[in-house]
Amino acid sequence: MKRDLGDLALFGGHASFLQQIHVGRPNRIDRARLFDRLSWALDNEWLTNNGPLAREFEERVADMVGVGNCVATCNATVALQLLAHATELTGEVIMPSLTFAATAHAVRWLGLDPVFCDIDPRTGCLDHVAVAAAITPRTSAVFGVHLWGRPCDVDALEKVTADAGLRLFFDAAHAIGCTSQGRPVGRFGHAEVFSFHATKVVNAFEGGAIVTDDDDLAHRVRSLANFGFGLHSPSAAGGTNAKMSEASAAMGLTSLDAFPEVARHNQANYEQYCGELARIPGLSVIDFVPEERHNYQYVIVEIDPDVTGLHRDLLVDLLRAENVVAQRYFSPACHQLEPYRSRQQFQLPHTERLSARVLALPTGSAISREDIRRVCNIVRLAVSRGFELTARWQQRPGPDGQSVVAPG
Ligand SMILES: *Cc1c(COP(=O)(O)O)cnc(C)c1O
Repeated sequence: MKRDLGDLALFGGHASFLQQIHVGRPNRIDRARLFDRLSWALDNEWLTNNGPLAREFEERVADMVGVGNCVATCNATVALQLLAHATELTGEVIMPSLTFAATAHAVRWLGLDPVFCDIDPRTGCLDHVAVAAAITPRTSAVFGVHLWGRPCDVDALEKVTADAGLRLFFDAAHAIGCTSQGRPVGRFGHAEVFSFHATKVVNAFEGGAIVTDDDDLAHRVRSLANFGFGLHSPSAAGGTNAKMSEASAAMGLTSLDAFPEVARHNQANYEQYCGELARIPGLSVIDFVPEERHNYQYVIVEIDPDVTGLHRDLLVDLLRAENVVAQRYFSPACHQLEPYRSRQQFQLPHTERLSARVLALPTGSAISREDIRRVCNIVRLAVSRGFELTARWQQRPGPDGQSVVAPG
């Protein structure tokens, strides 16, 4: 355990970990079951095009969510695009900026304009009052994002969009297995989209799914995902290829098998982080409503630089030197990224403030209690002596022997 600033790798101490630990490493699965399924698919000689494993995966996801339709896709980004295309969205789509770039890029790629809206600082999700204010005659839809698995205020967003006659979709890439007021995520708005990317809590190597109770919408997206075959309206013509392969479905099913155990492990990790990082002024672990279900796939820490004297970015660098690869989820925010940044100015004070203060710490089935103890030891040491640490870092000798002033 490290006791002094000089023990930190940033100042020449030994790194706490011999090998890097990461956010978003694949969770443990039963390899024998995966190989059995892959072998079965090879014997079955049906490798894609709505195969039996993909259909089984769709059924499992639909049952888990309690929704009428699930359409599995090759990833979540294209799934968002299928929804936009199937519902013939035009003009502007309102969404948060505090999300992974894919939410914005998906609609931009279709020639739609993402309109970034500020968040409720308590949840990190879309603020429905700001959404109502951002609606223009060009708005066709709202895309909410259940950031870090904490659901949006779905009732308020459903009301705002219904009043304005807009489509409402949710990017639920973080939120499989989570609930809002006891109802599973996946059942809100007109449709929701899950991601089964390798870094997500349930993974299919690459994969996504659209879940909806709207049978007609499900039929349209399923056809559009298969080159538009079976659709006759000219406006919907020209589909794409967004199907999930049998190999991905084999992985997705095996990962779903492991999900309850992974969620339990993540919850224990989360609770250990909360315990070890409690009562540190200026530092908090984001919380979850205890009555709801969560997948705990992200452990997000918020750090107040005014109270701690330590900026999030220096904490990330310092952890990296210890071989702890924390992630700035999500910073920069989308409106601070190209191509959005130079196209339009958005005033998003809550987004910018939270985005500059948060980081994701390693969790998942590869992370042990001892790993968390060591990560928290570093974080506690750094944060409790943040002013001193920052001063020492800024005064460190540069390559030419002069002291340097670090940015930020
Ligand atoms: C991962 C992620 C996506 C993209 O998912 P893919 O399956 O990789 O396309 C979209 N939105 C959010 C919020 C994500 O975290």
